[in-house]
Amino acid sequence: MHYSNVIIIGAGAAGLTSAIFAVREPGIATTPWSTGTAPAHGSAPTHGTSPATGTAPAPGTAPAPGTAPSSGKARVTLLERTPQPGRKILMSGGTRCNVLPVTFSLDDFVTESSRNRMRNIFRSWSVDACRRWFTDKIGLRLACEEESNKWFPESNSAREVRDRLVRHAASLGVEIRTGASVASVRRSGHMWIVSTDDGVHFSAPVVVFATGGLSIPSTGTDGTGHSIAESLGHTLHPTYPALTPLTGPHPGSEPLPGVSLDVDLEPVFVDTAASGRDVSDPGANLMHAGIHPVSRDLCPFQTRRSGFLFTHQGYSGPAVLDISHVIVRALKNGPESSSRNKPGKPAAQTDPPATLHPSATLHPSAALRINWTGRPAEWWQGQLEGRHTTTSLLRSHLPRRLADNLLEENGLANRKTAQLSSKKRQRLIADLTAYLLVPTGHLGYKKAEVTGGGVPLDEINPATMESRFAPGIFLCGEIMDVFGRIGGFNFYWAWVSGRLAGIHAAKMASDI
Ligand SMILES: Cc1cc2nc3c(=O)[nH]c(=O)nc-3n(C[C@H](O)[C@H](O)[C@H](O)COP(=O)(O)OP(=O)(O)OC[C@H]3O[C@@H](n4cnc5c(N)ncnc54)[C@H](O)[C@@H]3O)c2cc1C
Repeated sequence: MHYSNVIIIGAGAAGLTSAIFAVREPGIATTPWSTGTAPAHGSAPTHGTSPATGTAPAPGTAPAPGTAPSSGKARVTLLERTPQPGRKILMSGGTRCNVLPVTFSLDDFVTESSRNRMRNIFRSWSVDACRRWFTDKIGLRLACEEESNKWFPESNSAREVRDRLVRHAASLGVEIRTGASVASVRRSGHMWIVSTDDGVHFSAPVVVFATGGLSIPSTGTDGTGHSIAESLGHTLHPTYPALTPLTGPHPGSEPLPGVSLDVDLEPVFVDTAASGRDVSDPGANLMHAGIHPVSRDLCPFQTRRSGFLFTHQGYSGPAVLDISHVIVRALKNGPESSSRNKPGKPAAQTDPPATLHPSATLHPSAALRINWTGRPAEWWQGQLEGRHTTTSLLRSHLPRRLADNLLEENGLANRKTAQLSSKKRQRLIADLTAYLLVPTGHLGYKKAEVTGGGVPLDEINPATMESRFAPGIFLCGEIMDVFGRIGGFNFYWAWVSGRLAGIHAAKMASDI
């Protein structure tokens, strides 16, 4: 048995931050170490050490009799199932790692839990204070991209972010054990027993869950943490892939993969029952279909101009990723909407079927309403009065292939703009300013940057991140029912919630 004051499960962004703050909390009482050797729970297979620690852990050993964590620091053990910590940090921001947003508001985040609770958690650490921690304590120089509201490392290296966090944690004395895949957490007296897949047992009065969500299972996140949290009495808001590319048809007959542009995009629900039009027909003129805005609960993000990309299968880019959860939740048939991936193993637990938001049930087809250039209808009205052809006009404001496809679809290629009938003008302007793309699916957790749903905020104390059902269990990061849009918001949540959990986990350990 390995004894610690605090065990943290998952060495991602939230777990690393949690460990750093847990180990730094002063005044941890001496653990009542057993005399002699640790209780034998079978011989312990050797887990790896993080590359940054450099020192091999002593598997299966307890501290020498009477020894306590030196200098009043908590003995913190960080268990990570993959061979290296922070793999998602490495792949973040196109390997540049968008560490933080410059500014944030609650409207940059989606949760089905109480937004007040979310606010209270964010209040515990401002973006500026978090940024200063990175520069002053972690030694990471950050550069601001004001136009995109993002902080990146000056080096543009996600590896630097990961390595500095790991090194800092190790230098403070955090014991990082890689290859340690936690399978269960159970209570034994006043201690929690954390057991790995390969039969190693760890024990601590306090355990932090930082196991992430379900996105990109190859990075170690498969929902085991969710299942263990459920075994301790927690419920889950149904999970779903978020910030994930969508599939669907392109305008016109020639596919447009690789075409990209900045657009204004908002998700809408299309009610075609009244008009009798088939929304799955890419050529359908949906101008007269009932269009309903998506509720702010489902998508609080403000519409803003951002990147859109036609892919081989459909659509991607920040504009699409940001609202993809609306489509995912409205579609019942996403490829991975109802399974937790556990490569090579039976699924830990089956997700409840993807649920429809109440407004999606009323208006079954979710669509993307796009203004391709951001210009308003009046501006196009003025342009159409000039001496252009439709083709030359559209090609001068849109990528050529997209312009040609839109005109092929509406049958208005190479017309003299001034001679268009009012109905045709109206159609052309609608295609330019309020084009409806109707996605047919999504790429699921395999490509999702984050997971929506998870452990409800209402099931933790927002002042400490402690479970309301299992005393001594703390939760943080993506396992919780919070995610943000593209822009450093998801890491901000991981840093903030990880810090809060780490501080209070250590405090509680010191009181025991
Ligand atoms: C491609 C990509 C790019 C991204 N870019 C950005 C970006 O630039 N900016 C931004 O803000 N956000 C970005 N994100 C989102 C961000 O990476 C996540 O929000 C963040 O990593 C969540 O941190 P976490 O610590 O909660 O979870 P994770 O980082 O997923 O860490 C969880 C850890 O727990 C481990 N684990 C899970 N179960 C167990 C178990 N049973 N036993 C032991 N260990 C376990 C996992 O192996 C993993 O290491 C990106 C995500 C992806 C996929």
